[in-house]
Amino acid sequence: MTAPTTFHADAEWARAQDAADPLHALRDAFLIPPHAGGEQTYLVGNSLGLQPRGVRQALLDELDDWAHLGVEGHLHARHPWLPYHREVRDGLAEVVGAEPIEVVAMNTLTANLHLLMVSFYRPTPERHAILIERHAFPSDRDLAASQIRFHGYDPAEALIEVDPDEASATLSLAAIERALGEHGQRVALVLLPGVQYLTGQAFELAEITRLAHAAGCRVGFDCAHAAGNIDLALHDSGCDFAAWCSYKYLNAGPGAVAGAFVHARHAHAELPRFEGWWGRNQATRFEMRPEFDPAPGAEAWQLSNPPILALAPLRASLQLFQRAGMAALRKKSCRLTAYLAWLIETRLGDTLEILTPDEPERRGAQLSIRVRAGRDAGKSLFDHLVAHGVLGDWREPDVLRIAPAPMYNTFSDCLRFADAAIAWRGAAA
Ligand SMILES: *Cc1c(COP(=O)(O)O)cnc(C)c1O
Repeated sequence: MTAPTTFHADAEWARAQDAADPLHALRDAFLIPPHAGGEQTYLVGNSLGLQPRGVRQALLDELDDWAHLGVEGHLHARHPWLPYHREVRDGLAEVVGAEPIEVVAMNTLTANLHLLMVSFYRPTPERHAILIERHAFPSDRDLAASQIRFHGYDPAEALIEVDPDEASATLSLAAIERALGEHGQRVALVLLPGVQYLTGQAFELAEITRLAHAAGCRVGFDCAHAAGNIDLALHDSGCDFAAWCSYKYLNAGPGAVAGAFVHARHAHAELPRFEGWWGRNQATRFEMRPEFDPAPGAEAWQLSNPPILALAPLRASLQLFQRAGMAALRKKSCRLTAYLAWLIETRLGDTLEILTPDEPERRGAQLSIRVRAGRDAGKSLFDHLVAHGVLGDWREPDVLRIAPAPMYNTFSDCLRFADAAIAWRGAAA
């Protein structure tokens, strides 16, 4: 139970916290959707982050450069298109705790995981299993199962799904260790999330990597719910690869260009890879040589020249992360989520149950909540919240996900969620 005595369920207190928040000005850099003459209480940045105000101008600039420069924009646009992915590289590296050579913005999340598995899932008859979690996001299960089939094996035997072993369907490190103890010899790849989408549990990437490498497996992480949320340290974790989408906490817009990480120790390794000309060394790419001269690091996995109109929002968004700093965002996030948890436990404990771990280092911004009275009551609460401008999201069968994003959410937002839920409880009684 989170029980700091310093929290108060009081609108004036929440407003004072917001006014004293050093990151408070960042909220004005976002467009908050309207509701009933005011603003929505938008607590669903874990699903689609809000639009940074700078995105519209960033897109208009690219359209203008295209209009005025045509093909010359590759070299002479304000942000030249040829090296455009470099404009987001350092910002992305900071957000996920990587060296610049380890990251690249490209494609979409599921596509990136497939491309990275071409290199890092190299099954042999003795060692061809993939270890995932039982309640993996459907796309992650699909990609693992289809990779297994693609290599001529059977997911029924080769897809190992570790069952949650903790009370709220979370997964302990001990369970992963046990699974590796039992199956490690035949596991080629361990593929786990950075933050679990349904429970909000944050995983210990460095520990998992250590265990998996000790068992002779490669390790990759799906950081869809972790990038821009927790203070990832992908380089220090030692994992082989990772990928994430940019439309959740990274606020780069629906279907935004995703990210990929390949650890620096593979930066010059000869790995099997699906290749395309944009993965070539930039210095020799336009010599149009027959042989593939790979760019060092993650850039070698690029296939095509990137979609500039889709990268512009990511560039605008990452500027805000650089302004705020991941450490400061995470610090605020821990307090915001602790406040939300405290409100739920002290004022709604008879009605709501938090599934997400209580320890700050085992969760990110999101709290996954179950209504004790069951699924229909949960859906009724969700509908009530939406009608009152409080947006979270609903995941069948019975989970309400509420995520105060530190970039634009406030203590007042958390209080409005609690007040709306209390009003619903009163009406239902
Ligand atoms: C959001 C999310 C996805 C979505 O994949 P796309 O390729 O971006 O459509 C996949 N996996 C996880 C774990 C997610 O949270």
